[in-house]
Amino acid sequence: MENVYDLLIIGGGPAGLSAGLYGARGKLKTLILEKQKNGGQIVITHQVDNYPGSVENATGPSLTARMVEQAKAFGCEIARGDVQSFDFSGDIKIVKTADVEYKAKAVVIATGANPRKMGCPGEAELTGKGVSYCATCDADFFEDFEVFVIGGGDSAIEEAMYLTKFARKVTIVHRRQGFRCAPTAIDKARSNPKIDFLLDTVVEEVKGDGILESIVFKNKITGEITEYFADEEDGTFGCFVFIGYVPQTEMFRDVIECDDAGYFVATDDTTTNIPGVFVAGDCRQKPVRQVVTATSDGATAAVMAERYIASKFE
Ligand code: NAP
Repeated sequence: MENVYDLLIIGGGPAGLSAGLYGARGKLKTLILEKQKNGGQIVITHQVDNYPGSVENATGPSLTARMVEQAKAFGCEIARGDVQSFDFSGDIKIVKTADVEYKAKAVVIATGANPRKMGCPGEAELTGKGVSYCATCDADFFEDFEVFVIGGGDSAIEEAMYLTKFARKVTIVHRRQGFRCAPTAIDKARSNPKIDFLLDTVVEEVKGDGILESIVFKNKITGEITEYFADEEDGTFGCFVFIGYVPQTEMFRDVIECDDAGYFVATDDTTTNIPGVFVAGDCRQKPVRQVVTATSDGATAAVMAERYIASKFE
């Protein structure tokens, strides 16, 4: 079948790149479609210490670059494209971007997850003007400024630690007393003299005229409202938001089974309710979301796709 890929992978993060490597190495005609930059969440990760075998001080972008080269070395194609629609009802799956229609015998969806927004007034207007979701990208704008980090999971605590290299003071704002992150991480943060905590607290509003100038906090226990204003000399400060992620599954939800939080439901071997469609990485329901579990999913999905194609088309 000409112009039909064996395997089309939607998403070029670690899961998609791993599926691309395994698919191409398994001699499948393989294409990865990525709408933005390859690498997904790890391109905004300053250090990846827990990916087995990664070199000391490996950064997200350097790890991504090696994954891209490795997949390409086996013949995997990578194209830019934002999926607008799809038809998974036939044996040949169809995926359309604004200007190209792709056909494939099997599809791996590895669309990942995006940072959750606080949803408070001012957040959208002040994003990139003091409100950030990426310490790696924006930390150096806050050299010797004050910053707030919102959240109590691993991302918040790890990024707060990273931000202490730049900011003169980092205040972690969390909506309860207990932390979701690894106990060792919070112990480290507690012993860092640059880190302060504001607990049982949520952000009600962020304010500023073109740049972040104040944050309104609400104490969840007492209901007390307080407003923090930028130091007069600084004129601004940072608000880094790490309150979890939202799976990028929305356009597929009517067709592929998802759980209440929107994550794809799949078996351990990444099989979905649609034959020939597999899901890999952070977009699927799973207990641990890490680079290593994403690449593991990608490998499994490509191998399952290869078996599916062999049984269906050969
Ligand atoms: P997470 O574990 O889901 O934590 C999100 C945090 O934000 C929680 O503390 C949550 O509070 C809080 N939160 C959620 N919605 C909120 C809202 N609307 N307003 C205020 N606070 C809100 O997310 P994550 O830290 O991004 O981590 C995601 C996954 O990646 C986790 O599985 C994590 O272990 C993993 N991760 C691992 C590493 C590592 O191993 N090195 C690094 C980063 C991330 P509650 O606790 O009250 O729900």
